[in-house]
Amino acid sequence: MTHTFDTVIVGAGIFGTTAAVELARRGQRIALLDPGPIPHPLAASTDISKVVRLEYGADLEYMVLMESARTEWLRWNEELGAELYHETGVVLVTRATMAPGEYEYESFELLIERGHRPERLDVDEIARRFPAWRPGAYSDGFYHAMGGYAESGRVVASLVDRARQLGVALYPGQTVDRVLGDETRVTGAATREGESFAAGQVLIAAGAWTPILVPELTSVMRVTGHPVFHLQPTASELFHPPHFAVFTADITRSGWYGFPMHPVGRTSRHAMRRGVDAERSYQAAGYSIDGVVKVANHGIGQELHPMRDERVVTEHDVANLRTFLRDALPSLADAPVTYTRRCLYCDTLDGDFLIDRHPDREGLFVASGGSGHGFKFAPILGQLAADVVLDQPNPHLAKFRWRDIPPDKTGKEGARYQG
Ligand SMILES: Cc1cc2nc3c(=O)[nH]c(=O)nc-3n(C[C@H](O)[C@H](O)[C@H](O)COP(=O)(O)OP(=O)(O)OC[C@H]3O[C@@H](n4cnc5c(N)ncnc54)[C@H](O)[C@@H]3O)c2cc1C
Repeated sequence: MTHTFDTVIVGAGIFGTTAAVELARRGQRIALLDPGPIPHPLAASTDISKVVRLEYGADLEYMVLMESARTEWLRWNEELGAELYHETGVVLVTRATMAPGEYEYESFELLIERGHRPERLDVDEIARRFPAWRPGAYSDGFYHAMGGYAESGRVVASLVDRARQLGVALYPGQTVDRVLGDETRVTGAATREGESFAAGQVLIAAGAWTPILVPELTSVMRVTGHPVFHLQPTASELFHPPHFAVFTADITRSGWYGFPMHPVGRTSRHAMRRGVDAERSYQAAGYSIDGVVKVANHGIGQELHPMRDERVVTEHDVANLRTFLRDALPSLADAPVTYTRRCLYCDTLDGDFLIDRHPDREGLFVASGGSGHGFKFAPILGQLAADVVLDQPNPHLAKFRWRDIPPDKTGKEGARYQG
């Protein structure tokens, strides 16, 4: 059977759902396809939390974009009728004194330049304000009140509700395996399940699966897996804001970052009310996300194929986590690890997203390449994608254009640990 739309969106992660909402708002007939239930439990976006921060080292454009996104996050809290963005503040600590050229120093300086008010920390202030940290482990850094985390799986679920209200046709259980048309023009998409979708425009927003659907991108994208851990703290009073905030711990040298205790009572009430399969899947498997402290590593990761390779967190990963915790957050060092996940980044070789039209095939578009830092931009991603699809000018699209990237390029996202 053939269904007809203006635009078919392939993938219902954060890039796809925000694009669907925005394009539907602008009057388009949209189909949103995903192999899984939506949100898909394997999507990078489907998680309990993602960091929202303005700090991007010396990269002014990301900070400017995040200033807008953060304002929108606050508006979304009102509009979506639930606090899905928690402004707990962010703490960026360093072992040695922050120095020019480094992520934390450059972020701090740029924040000041732009009129923000980060609060410089020293060894005593860290101990006084954030008692979970081992005294003396970190000697410098800053706290910035404008930042925190978003409950990402719930955000996607809410956007899906909104998309439905705006008339977007949702097709869970549909795995696109072919973009239809010829080498110069697309005419739709066909799925492994035997459905065809006719459309003048196809937007590929398939996260780590993007280079499989658009093989021309395999030279500029790679898929890497990164460990995520949930811990159940015993000294839980230490992990609540304001005594604990979203943190990065000398992140460009270690990759470690984490979150305050996850709110209690989210799983069951929310999963039942809104049908969040990913949250239900935690429950079904006997995990609770109530009160967990999530810690993860924003590093090199492990190159993986999204369909062929198993996604496992190894004993070695857990041992690295324990080493970090013993040194930095000792009361968590022996806390039970209640859940682990190896989550896939769709990395571009330079670390910037890719939101653009295909250079040769008319009607084909890509919104992907989140590179381990895309979620925080959720409130502005839809506008970027919709402007590309509708050929509207947007000054920020130049950064995310379709581009050749030399194979030896190192990603330049400020916070990433490069090994
Ligand atoms: C461990 C981890 C931690 C992260 N932490 C942060 C953070 O703290 N802050 C931050 O800002 N960002 C963070 N990110 C990055 C952020 O999660 C991603 O940039 C963003 O979620 C990517 O969204 P997406 O829509 O591109 O991909 P996904 O969310 O992966 O969505 C892609 C969708 O495409 C679907 N799909 C796949 N193949 C097909 C097909 N053939 N047909 C149809 N649909 C298909 C998939 O099922 C999936 O639902 C993190 C990522 C990971 C993995």
